[in-house]
Amino acid sequence: MTSSHFISKKHLGSNLYTFTFEIPWYDMQFQAGEFIELKIEHPNPDERGDKRWFTVSNVWTDVRLEITTRYFGDKSSTFKKALFNLKKGDLVHFSEPMGDFVLPKDKKLRLLFVAGGIGITPYMAILKYMEVNNDIRSAKLIWKLNSLEDRFEIPKAPKEVEQLVITDNDLFKPEYLLEQFKRFKADRIYISGPEPMVKILNDGLLKLGLPKRVINTDYFPGYIN
Ligand SMILES: Cc1cc2nc3c(=O)[nH]c(=O)nc-3n(C[C@H](O)[C@H](O)[C@H](O)COP(=O)(O)OP(=O)(O)OC[C@H]3O[C@@H](n4cnc5c(N)ncnc54)[C@H](O)[C@@H]3O)c2cc1C
Repeated sequence: MTSSHFISKKHLGSNLYTFTFEIPWYDMQFQAGEFIELKIEHPNPDERGDKRWFTVSNVWTDVRLEITTRYFGDKSSTFKKALFNLKKGDLVHFSEPMGDFVLPKDKKLRLLFVAGGIGITPYMAILKYMEVNNDIRSAKLIWKLNSLEDRFEIPKAPKEVEQLVITDNDLFKPEYLLEQFKRFKADRIYISGPEPMVKILNDGLLKLGLPKRVINTDYFPGYIN
């Protein structure tokens, strides 16, 4: 793991925060959509320990590293409390960035991005990457929230990326996503969010006959919804 220092945190609304750190790898261009493991040493960690995986929610050209997460106050793990209480200059440790929840090389592929709540984090990086690099692709983002109060501002997307926010639990089913996939004439569907939600959607889409090779998933364990 590589050492870094905490810089600041920003409240995005509801129980959502972005935490900013010094970029730990000066010689490495991480890809939008990749994740890291963050270690924060703290006294008496609970059974979940002092490390967590987080998607990097910004892009490497920012020359800093950001993660975005939910904070449940007193109900939080010792890790999240340690994260929330970091002071400017405090030492943390990062693994190298990794993962395949990244844009495909073929720019002609039409992409349907699906986020459940906090599962928006990889798209924060991906949309920003597309905008900053003028990386033009046909994509549509569907962001499912429990309530509109959970909505927060995400990086500006290129005008080609259509965005839809939904809050209807009854609608947000594999059948709906398959219909969206067909209507958008998508080549790939990306699904990111709390583990139980992503599992239901992925299994449902496979049952409905969508080939495994067109589905890319990013599971966030530790969240109920
Ligand atoms: C590849 C990968 C990428 C990830 N990226 C991210 C990311 O970008 N952002 C992110 O936040 N997490 C991400 N995660 C998940 C992250 O690693 C943690 O598991 C998650 O944030 C939960 O943290 P925690 O265990 O410290 O629990 P806390 O968040 O502190 O939760 C504490 C308690 O709250 C309860 N709780 C959970 N969900 C709810 C809810 N909806 N309402 C009320 N209470 C609830 C739980 O029972 C839990 O015991 C990622 C995981 C992986 C594997």
